[in-house]
Amino acid sequence: MKIIMLGAPGAGKGTQAKMIAEKYEIPHISTGDIFRANIKNGTDLGREAKKYMDQGLLVPDELTVKILLDRVAQADCENGYVLDGFPRTIPQAEVLDEALTKLGEKIDYAINVDVPDDHIVTRMSGRRACLKCGATYHMEHIPPKKEGICDNCGSELVLRDDDKPETVQNRLKVYHEQTQPLIDFYTEKGVLKTVDGTLEMQDVFAAITAILG
Ligand code: AMP
Repeated sequence: MKIIMLGAPGAGKGTQAKMIAEKYEIPHISTGDIFRANIKNGTDLGREAKKYMDQGLLVPDELTVKILLDRVAQADCENGYVLDGFPRTIPQAEVLDEALTKLGEKIDYAINVDVPDDHIVTRMSGRRACLKCGATYHMEHIPPKKEGICDNCGSELVLRDDDKPETVQNRLKVYHEQTQPLIDFYTEKGVLKTVDGTLEMQDVFAAITAILG
């Protein structure tokens, strides 16, 4: 099963993607996580990506598409995957579509986690991330067991630069301009399913599993 998660930054699509990956035993692929791992490891790709990410801008398609296509070609993606944060532009969606068509494959579901902008801004300011293992929390909704400390690896949790309020406003603008057109793209392909992302995390997940079966 090949699934794409759509939704504004902070809509909760990453959390849902992880839950889907676990239930359906498919890899969770987040281009944001791949970039952050590269930043942490000080790679050239990381240095280049950081310039854009810190401003809430999208990393250019040339860089993003290559890492994604390399990743989905790996053996663990044979039975499908859930993409979180890719595609984010129509050209990215087209490249993915062409690559899949060549293999005689297609995206089965594009799940749109729908949350209004005003909810997003409040939510993002409460987000905390572990830069070591990539786990994400929310001070109100998904708190770690010990305040400020990652449950998985014990590292300190931080407010990511790209979750800071001024960056969030920028990311929402970028989302509406560049990513929202994907809703029409996948509607036309007949695979778009929208769920109400303002519900509790478990209720959003129940709506998603009702769709995926
Ligand atoms: P995310 O963790 O998905 O919210 O991504 C964090 C940041 O990484 C985004 O604000 C972008 O700067 C960059 N990024 C992640 N995925 C993509 C993508 N598919 N295309 C362009 N930039 C991306």
